Amino acid sequence: LSRDSRHNRQTVKLGRIPEASSAAISKSMKGNGGRNTRLELRLRGALARRGIGGFRCGLLVEGTRVDLAFPSLRVAVMAHGCFWHNCPTCRLALPKTHKGYWRRKFMINRARDKRVRQRLTEAGWRFGEVWGHEVDDDLQSAVVKIEKLLTPRNLN
Ligand SMILES: [Zn+2]
Repeated sequence: LSRDSRHNRQTVKLGRIPEASSAAISKSMKGNGGRNTRLELRLRGALARRGIGGFRCGLLVEGTRVDLAFPSLRVAVMAHGCFWHNCPTCRLALPKTHKGYWRRKFMINRARDKRVRQRLTEAGWRFGEVWGHEVDDDLQSAVVKIEKLLTPRNLN
């Protein structure tokens, strides 16, 4: 952990995750938390079908578990669930109850995503984020987005 994230953890007390206030939110909470999410699995499947290999899931890079890491190319891809990472495109409404909790939670998640992006980029990794809605709406485009990261610009 960086000093920054430790500091964050100590000063922001979130307490327990409140009960999901609706079935839809409950579904997205289950779908998007933790390792090997539905999102990651769909992406991995699509990459495999496209013949793209050489990646590892959950590899520790610069103190961060990277969802899809291509170590030999120094490419890191994070698969972000739209709910947990408070997707700027989907702009999902805050859950109806415990709004204060969710506001803080999403603020912390977004700040962490930003730090991770900065840390990996500074360490010389090409960094990409794939959002849940991209995988759900157009899986092929999400794969192409990753493919572009894998191809250094000077070889185009
Ligand atoms: Zn989204």
